Amino acid sequence: NVYKGPIFQKTDKVKSENVPPILSNFYKKPVLIHQGHMQWLYDHEGRRYLDLFAGIVTVSVGHCHPKVVAAMQEQINTLWHTTSIYRNPKFYEYVEKLISKFPGDLKVVYLVNSGTEANDLATLLAKTYTGNNDIISLQSSYHGYSSSLVGLTGTQCYRLPVPTPAGYHHAMLPDPFRGIWGGCRDSISQVPGACSCPGDCVTSDKYVHQLNELISHSIPTGGVAAIFAESIQGVNGTVQFPKGYLRKAQQLVKENGGLYVADEVQTGFGRTGDAFWGFETHGVIPDIVTMAKGIGNGFPMAAVVTTKEIAAVHTKGNYFNTFGGNPLASTAGKAVLEVIEDEKLQENCKVVGKYFIEQLMDLQKTHPIIGDVRGKGLMLGIEFVKPGTREPLSASEVSDIHETTKDLGVLIGRGGRYGNVLRIKPPMCINKQDVDFSVSVLDQACKNFMHKK
Ligand code: PMP
Repeated sequence: NVYKGPIFQKTDKVKSENVPPILSNFYKKPVLIHQGHMQWLYDHEGRRYLDLFAGIVTVSVGHCHPKVVAAMQEQINTLWHTTSIYRNPKFYEYVEKLISKFPGDLKVVYLVNSGTEANDLATLLAKTYTGNNDIISLQSSYHGYSSSLVGLTGTQCYRLPVPTPAGYHHAMLPDPFRGIWGGCRDSISQVPGACSCPGDCVTSDKYVHQLNELISHSIPTGGVAAIFAESIQGVNGTVQFPKGYLRKAQQLVKENGGLYVADEVQTGFGRTGDAFWGFETHGVIPDIVTMAKGIGNGFPMAAVVTTKEIAAVHTKGNYFNTFGGNPLASTAGKAVLEVIEDEKLQENCKVVGKYFIEQLMDLQKTHPIIGDVRGKGLMLGIEFVKPGTREPLSASEVSDIHETTKDLGVLIGRGGRYGNVLRIKPPMCINKQDVDFSVSVLDQACKNFMHKK
């Protein structure tokens, strides 16, 4: 069903004159996307691409999923907007449904509009509840972009040449591939032989020791408000942590008065396959969970979930949010949860994700420029290196491979500290045939690259 509507092609002119230069596009020859259906995107010439990046891990159940579209169409004809100053049933139906997905005492939902806003609110909640001001996140993390979150976000690529706001600290990243102590990946235990540690990975204690050093040197009062961490780092190129790290880090921060905030913006909603939330695969229950992106299948919405005890301290003055949980957003969110359940998409992530990583590991055997293949469920990463080393292949070389995959019909993400990681986070509905197609395209792109060298 090829796009037949009006085609807007004058993007170069508008982009150069009216769009901020910092808003960069992927690809030397950018794609002009007009239409989407499930795992497929169509450009202005009707050319079809398999979407392995899902608008950056956002289109969770598929582009224009018919059930989500139908629910939203009905709502759009009924009521678009009202705020929480009135009661709207859609808000309450959604809150009830979303909270049913959480373990333990995580019972209270704030509905907001973006991942940045969710993490900003979580920061306020943590500071209010603990009475402490210092926040820790991991090196190379991404948690959002605002005047305060440039401090929470650890990755240099998104930092501005302005002073980091006071009270933000970045702990050593427990990165099994590039970290100084290496480590195993608990999370790829679904692939036989991936982790050899019988219990927690031995490196987890070393990285937690570093966290302790950070607290005692940089936060002499020992008063931590929170540690923020993803369950698998997304923007930094799918970095998984050694088994036991998150649990021990949470414990240490708790001993210093702080909360653990799980940023599930990328890892939530079943994407990692084994569990609905990424933190569950680490055997931890956070104090606060933030989520966005896949929550609305591309509809702009986000949420913060916490305990009654924490929410109870947040009662001074009013809290108001114009769009948070508006009827259309709540309808989108509820429809997404229903589709994930009805179509068993978490299970699909597990099965297709395992198949995908196995195929990529095979591909790695034939291409020495693939230094590492990692991830869990449908959140995968391929790290490119100079053959025989762990030295990153340059960002421009990886760009070349990336451009070829696009020319061959597959859209993949990019990231990592050195821009040398291809990130695979497709709509959760992809199948094994899509994997076979993607792997053959990656194979060809690597061959073309080596051929040119
Ligand atoms: N947290 C994580 C882990 C993210 O990946 C992102 C977005 N890339 C954010 C927070 C911020 O979300 P948003 O762009 O919706 O503000």
